[in-house]
This record gives sequence, C-alpha cells and structure tokens, in this order.
Amino acid sequence: MTPFRTALDFVCSTLRDFQEQGVEAQADSKALARLAAAVQAGPERAPNPRVSEGSANEPEIPAAPAPLSPVSALRSPVSARSPLSDKGERLAALRGPVLACVKCPHLVKSRTQVVFGVGNPEAELMFVGEAPGADEDKQGEPFVGLAGQLLTKIIETMGYARGDVYIGNVLKCRPDMPPGASGNRKPKAEEMETCLPYLRQQIDIIQPRVLVALGATAMEGLLGVTEPMARLRGRWHDFQGIPLMATYHPAYLLRNQSLGEKRKVWEDMLLVLERLGRPISEKQRNFFLPKG
Ligand code: URA
Repeated sequence: MTPFRTALDFVCSTLRDFQEQGVEAQADSKALARLAAAVQAGPERAPNPRVSEGSANEPEIPAAPAPLSPVSALRSPVSARSPLSDKGERLAALRGPVLACVKCPHLVKSRTQVVFGVGNPEAELMFVGEAPGADEDKQGEPFVGLAGQLLTKIIETMGYARGDVYIGNVLKCRPDMPPGASGNRKPKAEEMETCLPYLRQQIDIIQPRVLVALGATAMEGLLGVTEPMARLRGRWHDFQGIPLMATYHPAYLLRNQSLGEKRKVWEDMLLVLERLGRPISEKQRNFFLPKG
C-alpha cells in the first residue's frame, strides 16, 4: 500500500470515528485542503515541496496512521450531514489544486505558501486585490498586513463583518523579490494571466452580487485594462456578468491619508452599498466629508 493510500485510509477512518461519536460538523479547512491537494497530486507527486516539508500553517497528513480496527473497517459509509454548503464544498475542492499549483516555477520556489482566499462562500460582496504580500505569504490569508487591517476597517464601516464577505487576489502567490529586498513587487501580466483561471472559478462558485477591485493592478488582472484608477473608480464595470466597482487599493490610502482620497474610496463603497440595497445611515453618508 502506498503512503498516499495509507494516509487516505487514516483520514477516512478518522471521519468515521467522528460520525460514530455523533460529531456532525468537524472540519479543519486547512487539513481538508492538504488532503484535497494530495488527492489531486496523486501518490507520485508531492503538492508543493516547500509546503510538504511542513509549515506552521499547513498541517501534515500523518505519515504513520493508526491501524484500522476491525470495527472501523465494518462501519457504514459516511452519511453525516456536510458541515459545508454547496459553495463551501466547491471552494474546498478548488483549494487543493490551487495550493498544489506549480505553474509559475519561480513563485513556487519563493513562496512560503499559496494564499487561496478567505471569507463567506455565500458572500454577496467580494473584494479582489492584486497579490499576497510578505504578511499574507507568511500567514496564508489575504489582506492581513497593514493594508489588510485598513480593508477590514472599510468593510466594518460598510456594516459588514470581515467574515461576511469574501476576499481574494488575482495572484495566489507572493511575487518573488530579489534576495534581501524588502517590500512587494507588482505582479507581471503573464503571472496574472496564468493565475486568473483560479479567481474566475472562485467567482463562479461564490457568485457575489457585487465585486470590488482594489487597485489598478487588480483591474488589469481582471479586465486587462491599464488605465489609472482615477479614471476607473466611481463607476460600474462588468466581470463575467457581475457588477464590478473599482477603487483605490488600501495601501494607496495608507500612503495618501488626505480626507479627499479617503472620501473617494468611501463614495465608491456607498455606490456598492446602494447597489446591494443595504441600509445607509446619514452618518455613513457623511463619512470623510470636510467639516463645517
Ligand atoms: N495587497 C493585496 O493586493 N493583496 C493582499 O492580500 C495583501 C496586500
């Protein structure tokens, strides 16, 4: 029996044990993603050499599983209700191949981990950034650095929790940097083109009612347009039949903290809230307007 098969059997028996114990919703999404990646890659190909060495964020599939007991071998097939919605299941199934992706060898070499996306699979609103930065590459989640914290604030000011919406990127790997260099580089057009099918599939599964592109690079990745954000923002675009609002990237707002720039982003978000039929208070309408 191959190690792959042995690991798979171990996972199946553990799931049956949960069923036996009456556990209805037991899912470690990262472990499921690793499993899906292993299934996708098959016994001969490791999903990602760096990840399979075991990073803090990606638990390993146990190499030496406990033997199957005769009782567990006789158990009925798993019939417990799935803890994930249909969209959640489809996203979980997509996660494996994305985490195992080796289409850009230079990024496979430099990445700590692939950053798939995060949030509610049933979200009505989805934000799309350009690519993971250093913090995201470390933590495996989009928009967790300073720009991410600002994005979370924007989401909350709109009246959502971060977990209500879905957040993803055009590129799933951090663009590589020269050794010793700090900061992040803009993804190349060919890198975005290579990765875009994954984002397309995520959007196709989630079917958000509204998309928000964060920054001109995200717009370039999504629509191939290379206009400055000043000309793209504040009006509706279309991505696969879904209304798409363009606005400045939160990192731009961190660099340009004037009330005027904050107001522009906020006006874009007001358009999004209106489009979604969300209630907007007077206070919300007036955020970032000059006083007096
Ligand atoms: N900037 C992005 O575009 N995406 C992230 O996930 C983080 C920073």
